Amino acid sequence: MLLILVGGMVFSRVQASVMGSIDGELQKKGDQVVRLVSLSAQVEGIPEPLLPFINATLEDPELYVQVRDRTRRVVYRSSNLLRAIIELPEPYYQQAMHGLAGYYNLSWEQPNDLRVYFAPIVVNGQTVGIVQVARSLQAQQQVLEQLGKNLFILFALALALAAGGGYWLTGMALRPIKEATATALAITRTGNLSRRVPVRTQRHDEIGALINTFNEMLDRLEALFEKQRRFSADISHELRSPLTTILGNISLLQRAETLPDEERADMIQEIRSEAERMHRLISDLLLLSQAESGQHPLHLELVELDRILVEAFRLAQRRAGDRLDIRLVHADRAVVRGDADRLRQVLDNLLNNAIRYTPDGGRIELGLICDKDWAVIRVQDTGQGIAAEDLPHIFDRFYRADKARTRAAGGTGLGLSIVKWLVEAHRGQIHVESTLGEGSTFEILLPLAEPCDQMHVREDDAHAA
Ligand code: ADP
Repeated sequence: MLLILVGGMVFSRVQASVMGSIDGELQKKGDQVVRLVSLSAQVEGIPEPLLPFINATLEDPELYVQVRDRTRRVVYRSSNLLRAIIELPEPYYQQAMHGLAGYYNLSWEQPNDLRVYFAPIVVNGQTVGIVQVARSLQAQQQVLEQLGKNLFILFALALALAAGGGYWLTGMALRPIKEATATALAITRTGNLSRRVPVRTQRHDEIGALINTFNEMLDRLEALFEKQRRFSADISHELRSPLTTILGNISLLQRAETLPDEERADMIQEIRSEAERMHRLISDLLLLSQAESGQHPLHLELVELDRILVEAFRLAQRRAGDRLDIRLVHADRAVVRGDADRLRQVLDNLLNNAIRYTPDGGRIELGLICDKDWAVIRVQDTGQGIAAEDLPHIFDRFYRADKARTRAAGGTGLGLSIVKWLVEAHRGQIHVESTLGEGSTFEILLPLAEPCDQMHVREDDAHAA
């Protein structure tokens, strides 16, 4: 568009300047003739003797000159006109009769035009004749025509170049988007989330960012789907084994009528504990899924952590009985902002694990100290420990370091995932250190809500409390 505008302007400027120079020259020559003729002109008319000098005065073979009298009769024609006559249309004749000069174009030797300048010969305020000087526009028209053609070719070329370049550029720019669409379609059709949009060269523009984001999203989706798939498989597996035990025991009980009472009681006890495990598993799952969907807001209040610690410690002692030596080694009076029930659950899960994975005669130490802005709870056991390769995974759902043994120990494989989620929901941290065969130490850091009253609570104090 801009190109056409510029081209149009160039063309009209060139045309105007060419015509302007022709008109200027015609006027000059025309006026020269008028002056010459005027020398001898009278009110009655133009005497002829001077006319033959006109040609000699102008010295221009390209210039056509014609003189008419006031009746429009041609009284002189330059020799180069041969038999032709430069017409003088009525309106211009009238204009000349009114004493005004002017220009007009005449069709002449098609397709070339003749540019004509006419001027009146005035004597005593009366037009006694009219001078016409003309020049063929052939050369100029050819130049202008050539210019027009060249401009047109230039436009066509520029247009083709712009269109081609634009097509190529958009094609290049849109190629990654086409590939992304194809990838998305292929994923929809095949359900194969491992496909990615190919990245040939790293682009640092919006499209590059889009492709990277798209691929990252696919990474995350794939990981999520895989996690989900494993999770469903794990749940089915976790629920199937207690159900198998329960159903097996029930059919045995139904068939064997003469079972000794003791054996019957054992079987019923086994059914009960398996059912309890399923119950625990389902409650844990519910808690985790609520946690994930953000539906489980904590009931935050100021909680005296040391009290909860002492409660958990007593519960653990009762649960372990004489089997283990459980000690409360330190309890600063720490107040945190948290959900008391959930914090109790954290401690119960950690202590239950310590009890579960520590062989008879082992020791568990429980402590709470303040460290700067943190309340630090430490649960240390002399149990079986966790292998280094298992350590990074123990907070994953259903992860068990020793599959058979830990399931037999009654765990659901969800305890530590719940602990980690709860601690983080309290804006805390959890760390673990463990040596296989020597024991494990779990450490929880929770932000203090109030300055801590550091005071040592010995085991005897805790007993007395
Ligand atoms: P589980 O219900 O199986 O105990 P958890 O999520 O509580 O599930 O723990 C995950 C795994 O971490 C356990 O199966 C066990 O292998 C290991 N583990 C957790 N606590 C201890 C501990 N105190 N000593 C040794 N191993 C532990």
